[in-house]
Amino acid sequence: MNGPFDAPSQSFDDLSIQLHTYLEPEQVEAVHRAYCFAENAHEGQTRRSGEPYISHPLAVAGILANMHMDHQCLMAALLHDVIEDTGVPKHILGREFDEEVAELVDGVSKLKNIFQSRAEAQAENFQKMTLAMSRDIRVILVKLADRLHNMRTISYLPAEKRKRIAKETLEIYAPIASRLGMNDIRIEFEELGFRAMHPLRSSMIEKAVKRARGNRKEVVANILETIRAALERDNIEAEVFGREKHLYSIYDKMRTKHKSFSEIMDVYAFRIIVDDVDTCYRVLGAVHNLYKPVAGRFKDYIAIPKANGYQSLHTTLFGMHGIPIEIQIRTRIMDMVANNGIAGHWLYKASDDSASGSHKRAREWMQDLLEIQQSAGNSLEFIENVKIDLFPDEVYVFTPRGDIYDMPQGATPIDFAYAVHTDIGNTCVACRIDRRLAPLSATLESGQTVEIITAPGAQPNPAWLGFAVTGKARSSIRHTLKNQQRSESINLGRRLLERTLKSQNQSLEDIPADRLSAVLSERNYSDFNALLEGIGLGNQMAYVIARQLISDDEVETPDKQKPLAIKGTEGLVVTYARCCKPIPGDPIIGHISAGRGIVIHTETCRNMTELREKPEELMTVQWDPKVNQEFSVELRINVEHEKGIVAVLASTATAVDANIERISLVEKDARLSTVNMVLTVKDRVHLARVIKRLRTQKGITRIVRTKN
Ligand code: MN
Repeated sequence: MNGPFDAPSQSFDDLSIQLHTYLEPEQVEAVHRAYCFAENAHEGQTRRSGEPYISHPLAVAGILANMHMDHQCLMAALLHDVIEDTGVPKHILGREFDEEVAELVDGVSKLKNIFQSRAEAQAENFQKMTLAMSRDIRVILVKLADRLHNMRTISYLPAEKRKRIAKETLEIYAPIASRLGMNDIRIEFEELGFRAMHPLRSSMIEKAVKRARGNRKEVVANILETIRAALERDNIEAEVFGREKHLYSIYDKMRTKHKSFSEIMDVYAFRIIVDDVDTCYRVLGAVHNLYKPVAGRFKDYIAIPKANGYQSLHTTLFGMHGIPIEIQIRTRIMDMVANNGIAGHWLYKASDDSASGSHKRAREWMQDLLEIQQSAGNSLEFIENVKIDLFPDEVYVFTPRGDIYDMPQGATPIDFAYAVHTDIGNTCVACRIDRRLAPLSATLESGQTVEIITAPGAQPNPAWLGFAVTGKARSSIRHTLKNQQRSESINLGRRLLERTLKSQNQSLEDIPADRLSAVLSERNYSDFNALLEGIGLGNQMAYVIARQLISDDEVETPDKQKPLAIKGTEGLVVTYARCCKPIPGDPIIGHISAGRGIVIHTETCRNMTELREKPEELMTVQWDPKVNQEFSVELRINVEHEKGIVAVLASTATAVDANIERISLVEKDARLSTVNMVLTVKDRVHLARVIKRLRTQKGITRIVRTKN
């Protein structure tokens, strides 16, 4: 294999000579320090080949030096296995060298971990994630160089490992190189990967190519001669080369396009390199004049470049005896871009501004793509992919099954849940991030595994709107809450109205339709449900509406009516006052609060004094005998000093099925402490049982249920 980045330096002296051609002396000195540090750290370790370990990072640095990468990148290359393989922590590198170098080395190490933990996930998403996780493009370049050297020395590995690494190279590294336009490296990855993955198939194709080459020699020479002569006749200066297909690309065509070996080999391929764009089109005219072009095979990638910046004219011709001839025509610069992609910015533009950072270089590359695209008069959309990959505003997270989801920066498990499915979002109750329970408001990071825990019948919580960021999650939450509240309000409104009518020995069915519509239009409601919703939300008083409906001034005010039964399942339109925390069994009163529905207080609540001044907002309510819910209640417990009393209280309460919501030591003096405990119980009977059990504990002197 003859890659352009072949023949890495054999010793630091070789590397140093090369570095002096494009780096400042003090930069080369910094690289040398990194080399010494790495050599020291890897002391005693060897490669499978038997060479000292340092030969590997040195070779990786050599590959990057051939790309004219900056000194920090080369330092990171020399140190790239130090964190992982020798246990030197990142902050030591930061102190010894600089933060940027430490970040680069850390980035390369992190990529390695991600790969090892998730070998089974989809390759394409891996490519995306790899790019997204590396804020600095140099991390990718070091990683590519690292993999390139490992592939060049893969023969030393055991067969099993060889196959796994080759597969990963073909599925992930070659496509990444391709996205970055680094064609030379992509081809080398493919050739080495193919050989390691399918040694038999590759050697068969190799032999077949050698045999075919003999037969083809004369034809190739013939066509070359004809093309050169034609260009000379038109006074066009150009270089013409015969191109041989790479083994992997032959194999890939046979497999994916179902072509036979001879069909592929019967095609003759040439590349023509010229000085400027105009000449490209003149060459095109000349060769089309020479041989008849195959219809539909002409592609103008100069006017419409590929996403990675590739530009060229492609055409296929019928040669003599009808043999197909494929021709690529491009300028020298286009050829450089086609071979090196993003690395071209270090290779050929380094002298412009040696201080320009890697991010700037990557942006310049993007800028170039953009300009090429704009001059071609195209939409900018086409580079969106590349852009998102290099400058991520996304994070990539896994489902427990290994599927990858891309989420915007700042996304939370709630956003993730809605991204997976609206139903999952709506019934989500908790989540695990990397197998640990985490708050639903946590900010997700690339590489995390997120598991959403759902419960049937669970409903979105309005508080989610405080942190959900994706449009999908926010609009789904709002939509569901709105629907939920509306249907709950309508239900409650109907119950309130029916109850009032019943106290007059009337029912909704008895109300004449014209009477109903008169009330609706007078009150400005579009339909009956809207009116019921208004009652349920507390915007209308049920007895006022009832009086209107039966045109009777005799309708009694709420307090004389049969109480409304509270079931505990009314949802958003019936809430329980936080001041007094009523539980089933407590005598209660409903307060109709405009826009919020009914708030339930205990009759003895301190706030009732004030609320009773507006009796029309109060209504009699009572607990439904079949309430099946848990309610919070707060206890204040005086204890004598006992070791571990908080734990004793908690386990005692839990033993009688009360859930602890909060427990805290609020006061303490020499003899006594006060503990505040918020727990959930079913009703007063349950609470009595809890208190009774607590009293049996040693050291407890007093238990009071607190109502503010
Ligand atoms: Mn390595």
